[in-house]
Amino acid sequence: MDLSVVIPLLNEEESLPELAAWIKAVMQANNYSYEIIMIDDGSTDNSWYVIEALRKENSHIKGIKFQRNYGKSAALNEGFKAAQGEVVITMDADMQDSPDEIPALRKMIVDDGFDLVSGWKKVRYDNAITKNLPSKLFNATASRVSGIKLHDFNCGLKAYKKKVVKNIEVYGEMHRYIPLLAKWSGFKKITEKVVEHRPRKYGVTKFGWNRFVNGFLDLASIMFVGRFGKKPMHIFGLWGTIVFFIGTCIWIYLFIAKFFFAEFSMTARPLFYVGLISLVIGTQLFLAGFLGELISRNATDKNYYLIEEKVGI
Ligand code: UDP
Ligand code: MG
Repeated sequence: MDLSVVIPLLNEEESLPELAAWIKAVMQANNYSYEIIMIDDGSTDNSWYVIEALRKENSHIKGIKFQRNYGKSAALNEGFKAAQGEVVITMDADMQDSPDEIPALRKMIVDDGFDLVSGWKKVRYDNAITKNLPSKLFNATASRVSGIKLHDFNCGLKAYKKKVVKNIEVYGEMHRYIPLLAKWSGFKKITEKVVEHRPRKYGVTKFGWNRFVNGFLDLASIMFVGRFGKKPMHIFGLWGTIVFFIGTCIWIYLFIAKFFFAEFSMTARPLFYVGLISLVIGTQLFLAGFLGELISRNATDKNYYLIEEKVGI
């Protein structure tokens, strides 16, 4: 199979028929063998019935229905697990991404050998103040911290080599950082391509103002997990040792002062408390490191979703 198109969706009943027809037209024009995997992320409208109806007309369309809303990351993750195409394309269901971009994206993966090509909505049709500005800031930070030069991490339209999607796990709200997850899994050929962005035709945006706060918190935790997730002792142990060592030096100094230079009460000196706290915090950090190691050693699958129904998969 040439292509899998993975589409996470939440309450997008109006867009789905048009989107499916458009994708089909592009696939037929290019003679691709393909599948469209629609993941209904707990919609409360008729999205799932629309998907079932679409499948009756076009058997390339497959569906996964979550029992409740687990988030875009979970939806993408399930789509990735099911995908069979050599190239996997993700796109939003709201028709803000254009299926006409698919052939060019596929070409970059197949002919130019990229592992991941991320869309870049250079011209955006979203609210300038609430979305475009915070998004610029967010992308600048993410790009700097991660070392991946992308202008638009969160673009829904991306293309992947099959191997990439089978080797990354998108959990929490990590869909914003998939290029980072890919890089950490060892896929280095990551690039971007300017793509057309369109105004939302039906429905409303599913992410509120808090997306940016969450975005930054997730960036902090992903950087942490990426660097120390499998070896928490390397950070907690290091700082625990340093702080404990400082405390020990302070106390040695205080003992010498008391016993060799006959200084009066040790506890009357502020330094005593600094030393005491350092020893306590150092021990705590060390213990946190041990606990982290135990947890990471026993951690199993982070993703547990209850899937209500599937068609075609
Ligand atoms: N979406 C989803 N689960 C969610 C929120 C969003 O599957 O919990 C889907 C949504 O239906 C759309 C895509 O993710 O297909 C992008 O969402 P949206 O268009 O609301 O984001 P925006 O374009 O405003 O960034
Ligand atoms: Mg959108």
